[in-house]
Amino acid sequence: MNIVETDRAYVWHPFTQERTAPPPLPVVRASGASLFLEDGRELLDMACSWWVNVHGHSHPKIAAAIARQAETMEHVIFAGFTHEPAARLAESIVNALPRPLARVFYSDNGSTAVEVALKMAWQYWRNTGQPGRDQFLAFSGGYHGDTFGAMAVGRTSGYYAPFEGLMCQVRHVPFVSTWLGDDACEEREAKALAEIDAVLDANADRCAAFLAEPLVQGASGMNMCRPEFLRAVVERMQARGIPVILDEVMTGFGRTGTLFALEQAGVTPDLVCLSKGISGGFLPLAATVANTRIYEAFLGDDFHNAFAHGHSFTANPLGCAAGVASFALFEEEGTLARIKRINAANRAWLAEVARLPGVGRPRALGSIAAITLGRQESDYHASVGAAVKAACFKQGLLIRPMGNVVYLMPPACISQEELARAQHGLTQVLRETARLYAS
Ligand code: PMP
Repeated sequence: MNIVETDRAYVWHPFTQERTAPPPLPVVRASGASLFLEDGRELLDMACSWWVNVHGHSHPKIAAAIARQAETMEHVIFAGFTHEPAARLAESIVNALPRPLARVFYSDNGSTAVEVALKMAWQYWRNTGQPGRDQFLAFSGGYHGDTFGAMAVGRTSGYYAPFEGLMCQVRHVPFVSTWLGDDACEEREAKALAEIDAVLDANADRCAAFLAEPLVQGASGMNMCRPEFLRAVVERMQARGIPVILDEVMTGFGRTGTLFALEQAGVTPDLVCLSKGISGGFLPLAATVANTRIYEAFLGDDFHNAFAHGHSFTANPLGCAAGVASFALFEEEGTLARIKRINAANRAWLAEVARLPGVGRPRALGSIAAITLGRQESDYHASVGAAVKAACFKQGLLIRPMGNVVYLMPPACISQEELARAQHGLTQVLRETARLYAS
């Protein structure tokens, strides 16, 4: 059997309706911004392979760091032991975040980074004698992963109907999306903040934590808010003593133009969740960073108050070595300057493309550019995305629309010429498919 036949016989793919999905495409090689298929075709990866890739595929420096580490020590238990890549990466992460964020707890993926943060916040209140804190607050529309705690806080994303009965208590508060040329967002923000105040007046002393994706809600449709709005919400939570968890799983490591999105909002959360780009997108790795107040609430003379959580592959040395190498590339390759150039080119393209019929809500932050097609609310179930995706594929572009939201998110290494090719290709596709969404 060839690769696809073998896959079809034995594999179950994520987020896929296995009966109707077209056969998966075998990828044999990846380099820079490109993926190379078995049949010789080349695709520009405009989704960074589920938002993980940072500097480009198969970057030789990260590949070499992983190879060196694999030959020295591939993995070791992380309870009672440590190693250089884990310690060095933690140091770099802490130095890049505002104080008092100071303690790095490693895990494997974005969902576990969130799960760990929720559990830390929950146990923090039990360790400090306030067990009445029995619910979480989160933004409507947020997505935080597919494990139980992460599903509960991301429940309004609409993915989890079969699991409704199994979720912990979460109260959702409004998120205010904005886009280029949107003049009315301050009014919408004021209304949302008043609603949030009312929720806090009634419930603040029951809230264990507030969780949010900072500046961009990814999976709910690349919805972006103003830094001022995020800051106003975070300040309200912290003024009431509610710990704030920022989920930087997608936004971290340059995606929004700064190393972390929280920098643009000028806020210091109590817990931060990191994954995806933490290893440059090479290996599964995650970190939950806690401030000293939370960390110290777990200290004691016996195990009683300790954080009873850990994964077999906690702080995998290969992933951490990739992370250390990726951090160095931010300096060596001027990654944030590259992302700034991508942003400028995207804004110029958005100004053009937003004039096409049915194309609305142009928005851009860091390396992300997004538009909404047809009905101007993000609609994950809109079928237009599949048609746009298929037509882009014919143009040599990997894009992954979310319903009627189409976005570009290239790796930082993409050349001006490649980015222009992707933008031009997508513009063509939007002209061809306009009859599906433009009335
Ligand atoms: N949080 C955010 C903001 C995400 O975008 C994602 C994944 N798309 C996750 C958490 C979950 O990460 P993972 O898929 O690695 O579990």
